[in-house]
Amino acid sequence: MGVIYSKTASEIEAMKLSGDLLGQAHREMAKLVKAGTTTRALNKVADEFIRDHGAVPSFFQFNGFPASVCISVNEVVVHGFPSDYALRDGDIISLDCGVCLNGYHADSAYTYPVGNVRPEIIKLLRITRESLYEGIAQATTANRMGDIGFAIQQYVQKHGFSVVRELVGHGVGRSLHEAPEVPNYGQRGKGIKLTNGLVIAIEPMINLGRREVVQERDGWTIRTRDRQPSAHFEHTVAIQNGKPEILTTFKYIDEIITF
Ligand code: MG
Ligand code: MG
Repeated sequence: MGVIYSKTASEIEAMKLSGDLLGQAHREMAKLVKAGTTTRALNKVADEFIRDHGAVPSFFQFNGFPASVCISVNEVVVHGFPSDYALRDGDIISLDCGVCLNGYHADSAYTYPVGNVRPEIIKLLRITRESLYEGIAQATTANRMGDIGFAIQQYVQKHGFSVVRELVGHGVGRSLHEAPEVPNYGQRGKGIKLTNGLVIAIEPMINLGRREVVQERDGWTIRTRDRQPSAHFEHTVAIQNGKPEILTTFKYIDEIITF
């Protein structure tokens, strides 16, 4: 997948600013996550918020993607388009967004319940969010890439859910997607050594049912083959002083919605 660009401390500081602005864009969307809101309205609020703060939405026109937020409802895993679909009570919705500020990207995703959601689906959201932090905790210079995926996979499977294999996390920096790939499955002690200056998006995509996914005919939308729900949480994480530091944030989301 190409060369890995190690980041300096000042580049990582710049990315933290991108990550904070992205967190605030998520807050603006979180305010609108309720039955009746169209997914197009969610895209619009984030797009405007990011541009109003002197940044660029990273996803817009990325490989031709037509919007600023990937919006994935229920059985859609990732890469859904905004549309006229209005959220319904009982849905879950993944909002995946990126910000480029001063030339540096940040990337993060969060999956929300809409109104009253079945308990097993709330559990899917909780376990997926927790699995992200299980993975982040492994992002140390004592470890290799496989340790991150191993931790996520073990945690998720212990709770009876399944890990999507076809899509993975990635390096982040001056480009939204850089080397290396960051799988959400793997073997302990395998893969590249994790080093200071590495900045990666860790983004477990976890299914309630089977792990298989299919792509819709629009060439983007990925859904579960069994049409059971899927959850997705993502942070951009730097390794510095041997340890992980999260550059994106859910703190603004937590002010609006908890589950
Ligand atoms: Mg993302
Ligand atoms: Mg990503």
